[in-house]
Amino acid sequence: MVATDHCKILIDGGLSARQIVLRLEQCGVMPEQLDGVLLTHEHGDHVCGLEVLCRKFAVPIYANAQTAEAVRCESALDQHRNWRIFRTGTEFKICDITVQTFPVPHDAVDPVGFAFYAGSSSLGFITDLGYATKMIVERLRQVHTLVIETNHDEKLLQKDSYRPWPVKQRIMSRHGHLSNNAAAGVIEELLPGKIDRVVLGHLSRDCNTPELALQTVRNAINKTGKIDIELFCATQSEISPRFRIGETLHGDFQSTFENAFFPAA
Ligand SMILES: [Zn+2]
Ligand SMILES: [Zn+2]
Repeated sequence: MVATDHCKILIDGGLSARQIVLRLEQCGVMPEQLDGVLLTHEHGDHVCGLEVLCRKFAVPIYANAQTAEAVRCESALDQHRNWRIFRTGTEFKICDITVQTFPVPHDAVDPVGFAFYAGSSSLGFITDLGYATKMIVERLRQVHTLVIETNHDEKLLQKDSYRPWPVKQRIMSRHGHLSNNAAAGVIEELLPGKIDRVVLGHLSRDCNTPELALQTVRNAINKTGKIDIELFCATQSEISPRFRIGETLHGDFQSTFENAFFPAA
C-alpha cells in the first residue's frame, strides 16, 4: 500500500481478499478507505483477490485498457463498474498522489511500472520485468525509495529440479523476471540519483531467499562506496514495516508515503 495523509492506494491484489483485508487492518486501513487499486498486469499472482475485494467494497480499479480487458475476461469483475482506465506512459492523479506509468518488458498484455510523487517525495515500483529498459531507469532517477523485484538467484534457478526447462527459460527471458544480480544492476544505475532506500520483493519461494537477495544487492552497492542505502526484503508471509519517504512537512499537507507491501509469488 502507498499512502499520504489524504490518499490510500493498493498496488495489485495478489492475495486472497480475506488476507488483503486482514493485512490492511494491520496497517490501520479499512478496505472502504482505499482510494483505488492500481494494477501492474493481469497475472494471477497480482489480481487473484480483486474480484472478492471489489465485490464487497466499491474500490475503483485503475488499469490500462488491455489489462482491464484481460482481468475482466477471467473473472466476474466484468460487473464491476468502477474501472478507471489509463494509457500506459501517461501520468494522472489520485487525490494528492501523482502516478506516472511506464511500460515494462514482461509476458503480460500491457504490463507497467509506476513512479509515485507526492510533495517532494517519490517512490518507484517495478516488479515483474525481464530487464530494465533505458526508459525505466530514466523514469526512476528521481525516486527516493525503490521497490524492485529480486525474483530468483540465477544458480538456484538453474539447479531447480521442479521447474521444466521452458518455464525456467521464460523466467530468465527478457519478458520474465529480474534475478538478484539483474536487480542489483538496476539499483547501481540509480545510485547517482536521489535513491536512499530499496525494498526487495517478489522473491521466488524455492529459487531465492531473502538472505541471498539482500546479500547480492548489498555487495553490489558496497562496491560503489555508497553505503548509506537502507535495504529491506519484503516477504509474502507478513506485511513490511511502514516506510516514511521524504521529509514530513508541517501543516495539513504531508508529503509522506506509508508503505506496506503485499509481495506476490
Ligand atoms: Zn508476479
Ligand atoms: Zn507477472
